[in-house]
Amino acid sequence: MALETTLYEKIDDGQIVKITMNRPEVLNAMDATLKEELFEAFQMAEFDEDVRVVILTGAGRSFSAGHDMSGKGRPSQHPYMQTRLTGLEASLRREQHIFVDINLSIRNLTKPVIAQVQGHCIAGALMVACMSDIIVASEDASFQNPVLRMTPGAAELLVEPWDMGVRRAKEFLFTGDPMDAKRAYEVGLANKVVPRDKLEEETLALARRIALMPPVTVSLVKRSLNRTLDIMGQANSFDYHLLIHEMSHHTDAAKKFGEDRRKAVADGGLKAFLAFRDGAFGKKQ
Ligand code: ZN
Repeated sequence: MALETTLYEKIDDGQIVKITMNRPEVLNAMDATLKEELFEAFQMAEFDEDVRVVILTGAGRSFSAGHDMSGKGRPSQHPYMQTRLTGLEASLRREQHIFVDINLSIRNLTKPVIAQVQGHCIAGALMVACMSDIIVASEDASFQNPVLRMTPGAAELLVEPWDMGVRRAKEFLFTGDPMDAKRAYEVGLANKVVPRDKLEEETLALARRIALMPPVTVSLVKRSLNRTLDIMGQANSFDYHLLIHEMSHHTDAAKKFGEDRRKAVADGGLKAFLAFRDGAFGKKQ
């Protein structure tokens, strides 16, 4: 099947594959189609025996602004997304598929994945970047998870405690404030920070260094490092958090916020939505 929202590019005789989220006109906002195509592209890389390293990036000025909130994103045709279920059962099934299973397929790829991050990397996009083994950020990169402002309990996979430490994760999530690239490097979220015009070159150089290694040992060590995280409780922690996230969708606060958000967007578009989201929660109008 041809990919519409994702580019799949072979470099160095296919030893390196670059997968690019390609909806730059909406800052690579991830609709269900893009998520399904990311899964498909990663599966192509997984089963192509020439591929040693995968680079994941976004076209244009930003890596990705996260989930497509416009309501105009294309629905997924995947059987998991077609369900007669409603309410909590439906959202658990859909979000398990699109935000957990698809994302973990990146994390569990048998080949190393490098995220090449520029501009915005927000919420659902941060979750995807954190599924990568290594993050190379440009100086203009900005990481943010303002999801608590919108009433879900963080994103579907709680990556922050693992990728920046629990105490910093609390500040990051409780404020929803953006974290610049320099700080992301300091807290261990990004492996390196490079000038914007060197981002592509530096990421490719790193991929080429890794591609020199025997693929089987890289793959085995990746498996062992990931298993170390699992032994530390990452898999259980992800599983628990998904339930918390689902529960948070069904609070009174979430329902009220959802209604108010629809009104704000209908009346004033994205700007109105952002002003509404970033104001004080529950403030009397
Ligand atoms: Zn959700």
